Amino acid sequence: MSDQIGDRREEAGFEGVAQEVLDEKIRMFREILFEERSKIFQNAQRTLTEDMTIDVNELSDEVDRTAFEQNQALAFRLRNRERQLLNKIEDSIKRIENGKYWWCDDCDAWIGFNRLKARPVTTLCIVCKEKRERKERSSHHSKKTDY
Ligand SMILES: [Zn+2]
Repeated sequence: MSDQIGDRREEAGFEGVAQEVLDEKIRMFREILFEERSKIFQNAQRTLTEDMTIDVNELSDEVDRTAFEQNQALAFRLRNRERQLLNKIEDSIKRIENGKYWWCDDCDAWIGFNRLKARPVTTLCIVCKEKRERKERSSHHSKKTDY
């Protein structure tokens, strides 16, 4: 199947995907991203609802309000990670719209459908990703020795 196309590293400059295949993939990945996005919205909604029902019942009006505000702040913080993911998803949707989605941000290599399927918000090919991870790991390591 064409799923294998472009997933081999030596195909860094791969341009052999037929436009129809690409169009189909664009539809597929857009769907994946939209679905991820609505999942985040649903989760956020649930977090907010659960947070707000914790303290409301037994407390006085004034404490209610404070608790409500605290919960709002908490929910906001909890959703920081989700918001970051949301930003990535929005970015990826933009990348699809302007045709950059398939290509690595760092080296312009073909990222590959399988990698994008596994990580729909990635902007890097596996080689650049591994390079960055190595860099991150070594900087984490040097931070740890400071303790
Ligand atoms: Zn790259």
